[in-house]
Amino acid sequence: MSAPWTGGCACGAIRFEISAEPLMQNDCRCSDCQRMSGTGHGSYLTFPRAGVKQTGEAKLWNIVADSGNVKTRAFCPACGSPVFMTFAAMPSIFTVHAASLDEPARYRPQALTYAVRGHAWDAVDPALPAFDRMPPMEPAG
Ligand SMILES: [Zn+2]
Ligand SMILES: [Zn+2]
Repeated sequence: MSAPWTGGCACGAIRFEISAEPLMQNDCRCSDCQRMSGTGHGSYLTFPRAGVKQTGEAKLWNIVADSGNVKTRAFCPACGSPVFMTFAAMPSIFTVHAASLDEPARYRPQALTYAVRGHAWDAVDPALPAFDRMPPMEPAG
């Protein structure tokens, strides 16, 4: 088993520690991820929620995703960093932003979601399997 996945926000007020391995790692180009990140895509690791240890009080907001599902985005009220996401329709998963990891180099994107929303100025790995939308059972982003 590998080391726990630890991370948090830029100022350190929000922290998480996850011992399970990720279920999925994806770059997402949906319009919501673009708006939220301020750039062309978001990068995410999705874990089983059981066993996630999260400390610090995150501010939460809900948005209806392109898929029609409600996702809850959590950010730090002090530094504004987006840190994690949860999904009303899939309460058993917990998604973190790749660059919130203490070791962001551990992120290994496996898929590109909402590829159709991408912009030419936001180049991503052309070898990634690309999906126009969200593939079934692979929720994050
Ligand atoms: Zn913070
Ligand atoms: Zn997205």
